[in-house]
Amino acid sequence: MSLLLRRLLSTAAHGPLPIRVAFTDSAGRGVFATRPIAAGEALHSAQPLLSHPSRALLHEVCYSCLRRKPGKGGHSSGGCYFCSDACREHAKGFHGIEKNSDWSLLDDHCSLRGLKYPYMVKRLACMVISGAVGADCLDILQPARLHQGMISEMEEEFELLDSTFRKAGFQEELAAFFTKQWYINVLARIRVNAFRIELVASSYEDLLSSAIASVSCDASVGNAVYMLPSFYNHDCDPNTHIVWMQNADAKLKTLRDIDEGEELRICYIDASMDVNARQKILAEGFGFECRCLRCLSGD
Ligand SMILES: [Zn+2]
Ligand SMILES: [Zn+2]
Repeated sequence: MSLLLRRLLSTAAHGPLPIRVAFTDSAGRGVFATRPIAAGEALHSAQPLLSHPSRALLHEVCYSCLRRKPGKGGHSSGGCYFCSDACREHAKGFHGIEKNSDWSLLDDHCSLRGLKYPYMVKRLACMVISGAVGADCLDILQPARLHQGMISEMEEEFELLDSTFRKAGFQEELAAFFTKQWYINVLARIRVNAFRIELVASSYEDLLSSAIASVSCDASVGNAVYMLPSFYNHDCDPNTHIVWMQNADAKLKTLRDIDEGEELRICYIDASMDVNARQKILAEGFGFECRCLRCLSGD
């Protein structure tokens, strides 16, 4: 684990970051300041390991980076939109696999139930088959705690995915990694680590001039999973936030002055909700009871 963490931090940015990942008593691990950091300072950016457009916007946002299609036109292929040659090139291998399979059974299953995460596992499986990532690339992330009902649903989704891939002729490629257990392990990690991507502004200056980011948000363009941002713990009165400008490349910025050694925390949910609503969502969606100062004060 520590080797993986070291590798992760060394590839997270060019030059030294003002943060480090460390183990904590309460939450397993967290992100801490290695020097005093001023309010509004950029900590680092992060590119997604895995992303997927919202189903309703499949043809409106880039298949790779989730950038919105400007007006009409652009490069599209197989119904999907690519915002640039670089995005098309990046996704070439796994997009080819995805587009050559008939996903109607999985689509029906997910749209009936309003599910979005199985699509992310599907995308990840295509990435693994194409050789873009290893089958274990999400293993370092914390999984959700699952109950039997969830596992039964996941088994059903796995069968749909498995039969679709087999019909499309990927038996051999699947043999190396694609098992029910792999599906469940990956989905359990995506469930708690996927960020809902809302593009807030075309520049950070725009964002600052609109006093509250959430007010200026477009609807979500999709979901994405990151490495380093997943190590930030939650606080209902956070000192750090994660923002997306034009696409799924995330930026982490401080909201307040930070002392050396202080833990940097982001808010996983809508912070404007009252304490009871927040506790309910955090317990059900993320599996923990929030004991931040704001919750303890009953605010
Ligand atoms: Zn793009
Ligand atoms: Zn809280």
